[in-house]
Amino acid sequence: MGNVTIGGDAPVTVQSMTNTDTRNALETRNQINKLVQAGCEIIRVAVPDLEAARALPQIKKGLDIPLVADIHFDYRLALASLEAGVEGLRINPGNIGGADKVAAVVKEAKRRNTPIRIGVNAGSLEKDLATGGAVTPEAMVQSAVRHIAMLEKMDFYDIKVSLKASDVPLMLEAYRLLAGRVDYPLHIGVTEAGTLFRGSIKSAVGIGILLWEGIGDTVRVSLTGDPVHEVRAAYEILKSLGLRQRGVEIISCPTCGRTQIDLITIAGEVEERLAALDKPLKVAVMGCVVNGPGEAKHADVGIAGGKGEGLIFRKGKVIRKVKEEFLVEELIKEIDQIIGGRN
Ligand code: SF4
Repeated sequence: MGNVTIGGDAPVTVQSMTNTDTRNALETRNQINKLVQAGCEIIRVAVPDLEAARALPQIKKGLDIPLVADIHFDYRLALASLEAGVEGLRINPGNIGGADKVAAVVKEAKRRNTPIRIGVNAGSLEKDLATGGAVTPEAMVQSAVRHIAMLEKMDFYDIKVSLKASDVPLMLEAYRLLAGRVDYPLHIGVTEAGTLFRGSIKSAVGIGILLWEGIGDTVRVSLTGDPVHEVRAAYEILKSLGLRQRGVEIISCPTCGRTQIDLITIAGEVEERLAALDKPLKVAVMGCVVNGPGEAKHADVGIAGGKGEGLIFRKGKVIRKVKEEFLVEELIKEIDQIIGGRN
């Protein structure tokens, strides 16, 4: 899709979605820029009306990550988005009008080599599949298979599929079933996962389990809040499974009765100061001098607290002693030296 390879042995890529009013191209563009800085690799925008579709060319200008238009109900919005040059469409062929309307969209997507994501959502499953209101993994898979068949019948195979649910066991089972049945790339996520804390944990469990089983080609952590957090959380999930590397890895101890510095504040500051640094560095922030350097000897650089002071160490070797108030500053200086190659 655009300049991003999806599926097969390609790395799992990170997606997010803007929450600005798409009709406001400037605001949407600004948010996309922030998301790109955080590492977002595919961006989706809602296209609820023609005015939003008309804003797409301006949103796209100079953008070098694929832009995906999210369409519901109206096939004309899909056509207008294709016309605007989006790199991907997220539609459910069954809900954008009759067969002739689906055909018009698919024909145009094919002509432009634009992939389509079929996005099945447990909350909006076709009535005939949700028997008695209950959504089962099998019903979600049936919905996906039905939409896939519609596209395949039109000789269209540039497809990605998602089967999102806010219930983790339900989405896990649905994705497993589908992964055993089709060979299309899968976009995975827990939908409506919640606010930053709860949503990140829920997403990490759902997405993490699937990725560990080898299922999933693109991910979105869906959070109620600033989408930049979605991108950060997605990378933490991918990094913790060794699937992607981005930014600095911070190892920090939980603190205990031995801690004699304000390590919680220090760790927060270090995280904030290093948030924008995209270097494969391991930084340890440890509370105690006795265990710190030893426990974090695999870190490139770190600090270990003492009483009102701390040690700066590199690869477990102590470099110097610093007063507590200068610890963060000295650690950052040390990191600058490593990055600058001034060892
Ligand atoms: Fe406690 Fe030291 Fe371990 Fe931190 S590194 S949890 S202060 S023993």
